[in-house]
Amino acid sequence: MAAIRKTKIVATLGPASKDPEVLARMIDAGVNVVRLNFSHGTAEEHIRLAERVRALAWERRRPIGVLCDLQGPKIRIGKFAQGKIQLSAGDPFILDAECPLGDQERVGLDYPTLPDEVEPGAVLLLDDGRIVMTVNAVRGREIHCTVKVGGVLSDNKGINRKGGGLSAAALTAKDRADIKTAVALEADYVAVSFPRCAADVYEARRLVQEAGGKAHIVAKVERAEAVAALKEIIQAADAIMVARGDLGVEVGDAVIPGLQKKIIRLARSHNKAVITATQMMESMVASPIPTRAEVSDVANAVLDGTDAVMLSAETAIGKYPVEAVEAMHRVCLEAESEEDELHVMRRAMEVFHRIDEAIAMSAVYVSQHLKVKAIATLTESGSTAIWISRAYPQVPIYALSAVKETRRKLTLFRGVHPYPFEQNVDDRDQILHDAEEELRSRGAVKNGDLILLTIGEPIGKPGGTNTLKIVRVGEHR
Ligand code: PGA
Ligand code: MN
Repeated sequence: MAAIRKTKIVATLGPASKDPEVLARMIDAGVNVVRLNFSHGTAEEHIRLAERVRALAWERRRPIGVLCDLQGPKIRIGKFAQGKIQLSAGDPFILDAECPLGDQERVGLDYPTLPDEVEPGAVLLLDDGRIVMTVNAVRGREIHCTVKVGGVLSDNKGINRKGGGLSAAALTAKDRADIKTAVALEADYVAVSFPRCAADVYEARRLVQEAGGKAHIVAKVERAEAVAALKEIIQAADAIMVARGDLGVEVGDAVIPGLQKKIIRLARSHNKAVITATQMMESMVASPIPTRAEVSDVANAVLDGTDAVMLSAETAIGKYPVEAVEAMHRVCLEAESEEDELHVMRRAMEVFHRIDEAIAMSAVYVSQHLKVKAIATLTESGSTAIWISRAYPQVPIYALSAVKETRRKLTLFRGVHPYPFEQNVDDRDQILHDAEEELRSRGAVKNGDLILLTIGEPIGKPGGTNTLKIVRVGEHR
């Protein structure tokens, strides 16, 4: 059997990938989670795309997660009379909260309080940092600036303040409405954009629950304030995104590689999933092959321990959405073979106080000593599979669960392959036999393979994992 990729691939859907045939090819190339970007498109479009993805997943007997990414309070300039202008270094320019239509001298703002939140000396970065201006003075509703780095500035481009410090609340009125759409389409994950602190993440969770949803919450780390509150944000969320686009603008691009490693380490140590995102294979928007630098970036994220790598424009608006997924698949697979074995033992050698967590780590420990083909967990909440995956075992983790939400949550976690599994008898031997058979029928294991099974006994009753069984497939009884 071909090697199984552990790292998960998140692909953003958009005009380039909404065609059912292209979407099917992307999924067959290995997409684990699709991202619906609520900065674009209508509620009806998102609902239709989610339905299409679910139908394709169903046909393939493979769960695919759906992540709804909220727009958040991205601060933008208004529109220009001519659609765009050209700015040069040294030019004066005014950001004017009351300007209806921009020209060479000034442009409006969709965030009317910006003049109250900047002071002379502040550095503003427009269009993901492509254009830089410094603030000379604030006069009424006007921010008078000098252009430091020029270029073309067009309608509705984003503004970030270097170092952060803008007070915009994380969840806008649009986000609150979009959470209802996300719940309606049964999102597995809802991503909060620009959270400042843990309270923003809790607020999103409350809104999802109030709307009757079961989505797990992704916190995007993309503001300077979020870096300062990293630990609390990780604790509040189910998964973290290293949102390198906006984050790079706020904290400086050179800070990103080190920060990425730190965020991944911290998220994993709190048993949370982590997605590394933005520009991973950006040149594939227009080219069928990635650059060497992009290949290295994806591979290094894998070696840093990320759970998932994300494609944004590559699959949303690019010319080569299927090729981008294929490229990520092969790069991840190769990088995983270079993983450091020491990683594995480090986590398994920690001290545990919970029975279920200790069993999970025992499975990892045994898998390093015996020639084991796979670890299978009979799980309801998914936590045993998550603990095992946090310790980087070198074999696949099969999470057998009757709970749809659990299976879909696990699509994001490294090394975990969720499969549906009903325990419809209370005969323990029969259930273990059925679990083995489920893996065998999928080609995951064959007779004679050694596998590890974690179970909670008495079996069939909900409760914590307390048993690790070492099984030779086909010799069960
Ligand atoms: P975005 O978030 O693509 O929604 O802006 C990711 C990032 O900022 O990197
Ligand atoms: Mn962003």
